Amino acid sequence: MSVVADVIVIGAGIVGAACALAMQQEGLRVTLIDAASPGCGVTAAGMGHLVALDETDEELDLCLLSLGLWKDFMRAHPAVGEPSHCGTLWVADNEHQLAEAQARATRLSQRGWNAESLSGAQVSRLEPALRPGLAGGVRVFGDSVVYPPAVAHFLASELVRRGGSLRLGQAVVRIGNGFVVLTGDERVAAKHVVVATGVEVAKLLPEVPVFARKGHLLITDRYPGRLGHQVVSMNYGQASARADALAVAANVQPRPTGQWLVGSCRQDGQRDTSVDPAVLRAVLRSAIELLPCLGDMQIIRSWAGLRPASPDGKPLIGPHPGRAGVWLAVGHEGLGVTTAFASARLLTDQMVGRPGPLDASPYDPGRFLALWSQSNAE
Ligand SMILES: Cc1cc2nc3c(=O)[nH]c(=O)nc-3n(C[C@H](O)[C@H](O)[C@H](O)COP(=O)(O)OP(=O)(O)OC[C@H]3O[C@@H](n4cnc5c(N)ncnc54)[C@H](O)[C@@H]3O)c2cc1C
Repeated sequence: MSVVADVIVIGAGIVGAACALAMQQEGLRVTLIDAASPGCGVTAAGMGHLVALDETDEELDLCLLSLGLWKDFMRAHPAVGEPSHCGTLWVADNEHQLAEAQARATRLSQRGWNAESLSGAQVSRLEPALRPGLAGGVRVFGDSVVYPPAVAHFLASELVRRGGSLRLGQAVVRIGNGFVVLTGDERVAAKHVVVATGVEVAKLLPEVPVFARKGHLLITDRYPGRLGHQVVSMNYGQASARADALAVAANVQPRPTGQWLVGSCRQDGQRDTSVDPAVLRAVLRSAIELLPCLGDMQIIRSWAGLRPASPDGKPLIGPHPGRAGVWLAVGHEGLGVTTAFASARLLTDQMVGRPGPLDASPYDPGRFLALWSQSNAE
């Protein structure tokens, strides 16, 4: 057995890579292991929208903590992940959505995250590509966009530059008591094992109730100057998919290249990443309804990814309730890029026994203990 680390982090997606670096910054010796390479899981399949979502208080708390840490990160490393400070424009189709948009603007502003509610005319002036006749919306100034796999790659490289260890192309096949077993039967020991394997977590820990929520995206050719903000329909929400149902809400991101990245949809009960043309059509239709000129733009690529979702919509960040020394950072659904740094902060604080910047109990994996005991008994 090679004893190499205080902490082994399994999974170098955006979440695991952020955890590994945060733990190293505490002076812990960290080994980061990935079956493939940094950021090549669902981190490479998403939109990279850094967004203050406020469907629940806990969600907003985690987003705001993380967005603050993202700001620090971008200040220190301005070129990493091609950040674009485009903000978000949430658009409302009708009076009901407009009331929700206004409530969002108030909620975010009260928490210090600058947002203003807009009339239909103001929305049209801000983004002339939007179809006329919208009820209004809310502009969120501080939201931004990054290219997540590049950030995960950078975080993993930083870990190595600061003396940490990175093992790529090696899957962990089993977690033992104080060690992990890699393909080829090599054992690596550590006091703490952090599992950040995204949607694959159940392969190592079958009791963890993280499931796949599929999403399709497509990207256009380059059309610089047509869109300034990430434009999202007020229909958009993390929790809107049901088993085998397809939830679609227009979500269009202007890339620094002038391309449009177009989503989004949610589908449960699917485990493969094949592209379904019927789903793509539904995603495109809803985006074209909002931004009609998209209908004349060239689509050059499409793909699908699996969001790691949890039964109550919150990530699992904290100690495994049944296995000493094992920690979880999984289940971030459609907010894992946004909330990666906050997840790393909360987990690191718990590991070193320091009070965190916010109450971590809503994300405690122990909340699923009853569910786990039940599945063990069956
Ligand atoms: C269509 C779509 C759009 C999205 N848009 C956004 C967005 O705009 N904003 C946002 O914040 N989030 C978004 N997300 C969600 C975000 O992409 C995820 O929440 C986030 O990437 C999860 O990161 P992760 O590190 O947990 O998982 P992953 O990126 O999947 O990383 C897990 C890593 O673990 C490794 N691994 C797995 N098993 C093992 C093993 N046994 N041994 C070793 N390594 C292993 C994998 O190789 C992988 O690299 C989107 C997702 C999708 C699908």
